[in-house]
Amino acid sequence: MVQAAERQAQVVVVGAGLAGLMAARHLRAVGVDVIVLEARDRVGGRTYSIQAHDGTVIDLGGQWIGPSQRRLGALADELGVTTFPTYDTGQNIQYIDGARHTYSGAIPLIDPAVTMAVVQTMLTLNMMAHDVPLDAPWTAPQVAEWDSQTLATWISANVTSRGARELLTIAVRAVFCAEPRDLSLLHFLFYAHSGGSLNELVSVQRGAQERRFHAGAQAIANRMAAALGERVILNAPVRAIQHDDAGVRVFADAVTVVAQATIIALPPVLAGRLRYAPVLPALRDQLTQRMPMGTVYKIHCLYPTPFWRDAGYSGQVTNYTGVISTVFDNSPEAGTSGVLMGFVEGDEARAWSVRDPAERRAAVLRELAEYFGDQAAQPTEYIEQFWAGEEYTRGCYGGYMPPGVWTAFGAALRAPIGCLFWAGTETATVWNGYMDGALQSGARAANEVLAVLGSAGA
Ligand SMILES: Cc1cc2nc3c(=O)[nH]c(=O)nc-3n(C[C@H](O)[C@H](O)[C@H](O)COP(=O)(O)OP(=O)(O)OC[C@H]3O[C@@H](n4cnc5c(N)ncnc54)[C@H](O)[C@@H]3O)c2cc1C
Repeated sequence: MVQAAERQAQVVVVGAGLAGLMAARHLRAVGVDVIVLEARDRVGGRTYSIQAHDGTVIDLGGQWIGPSQRRLGALADELGVTTFPTYDTGQNIQYIDGARHTYSGAIPLIDPAVTMAVVQTMLTLNMMAHDVPLDAPWTAPQVAEWDSQTLATWISANVTSRGARELLTIAVRAVFCAEPRDLSLLHFLFYAHSGGSLNELVSVQRGAQERRFHAGAQAIANRMAAALGERVILNAPVRAIQHDDAGVRVFADAVTVVAQATIIALPPVLAGRLRYAPVLPALRDQLTQRMPMGTVYKIHCLYPTPFWRDAGYSGQVTNYTGVISTVFDNSPEAGTSGVLMGFVEGDEARAWSVRDPAERRAAVLRELAEYFGDQAAQPTEYIEQFWAGEEYTRGCYGGYMPPGVWTAFGAALRAPIGCLFWAGTETATVWNGYMDGALQSGARAANEVLAVLGSAGA
């Protein structure tokens, strides 16, 4: 049997996603001795950028940055990771009741009654969202009503227009990779407030999809990790954590780290798969049993040119009954190659996960051809990423709350337990679920640890 090496540090961070790396960066900035343990052979977690055969940068995970994601913007500037605008010129395509329509702008003006209903519904939901306190959603005045129902229940009781219901469902799938029936209404409202408003969540211009990174989003994690150097240990999945008043002993494959505190920068569902001794308080443990991850395939099709632009299309599609319910133009800024990116989300992704990959690919290409012509069925490369099949992620974009979870378990989401501290985008108050939220959570957890270690705040 190989004896695991033992290392000492003041703080050990579990997970080298954006949250864990940000926590370590903050701690290093004030001279704290920190080690980061990462399960994979790479950093970045849910950001993962690769090169296609022709050299085009492809983001298999998180990719967009919006104007109010200021932490992410500031860090990208500091690290020299540059951005460019998402291609958003030309006609968008939308299917309503199976019929194809084209439009420009953020909200389709195809059927004035549907548009009115969508605008009215978004206004109502935004007003409700602003009543949800971001640091304690379970204290919202209407918590009993809002956390006892799903978003689907609310939609069926409050939105009569079928077109508006379909559009709202597409938006929910695109934002959560889950179905309206999966989500607590309270969680949906919290999430919208956390990102500013529903409009910001779903928009390209002035919204969460406004810009992309030239080098791919993972460059941010890579550069933070480079600055941390050998303090980041790859291929080190953490299995167990012993903790008491004196500190922690964190057991990863081939290395054990002894430290005064640990920041666990994992989605709650993965934090719940570690073995803790002593066992965690029931509220925290049961929270980790109740925050499922969404289900999504992110699919890229590459072409020699973005040919749809010549036909006047933006590359953006929404289709309620589609295999890929949303499509974007993910070509490089210079348009040196053409890239269509589509998401298979929620129920559709769940259903396709048990079917033959070749059948799935054929269905996706058939749909792209229907949207943009036969050329779209002949990509030079087809790249598919299924996050629910990833051992160290288990689904995406993030963990969400079904009904009742915020109310009964919400207080356990961030509360430290002795020398255990919690980070990860799921614990963020601002841009929860996004890269920006991951950074906020890492900085917050680092400050909590510093307060305990007796150092000045970062
Ligand atoms: C397809 C997709 C599209 C997205 N699009 C966007 C977008 O456009 N804009 C945006 O802002 N956000 C987007 N997101 C969300 C964004 O990527 C995440 O919110 C963010 O990257 C989460 O960072 P994190 O550090 O909290 O978690 P993670 O990135 O999940 O980091 C956790 C880390 O812990 C590691 N780990 C897991 N288990 C263990 C263990 N036992 N021991 C040690 N290490 C472990 C993992 O390998 C990982 O590196 C998207 C995500 C996906 C998947």
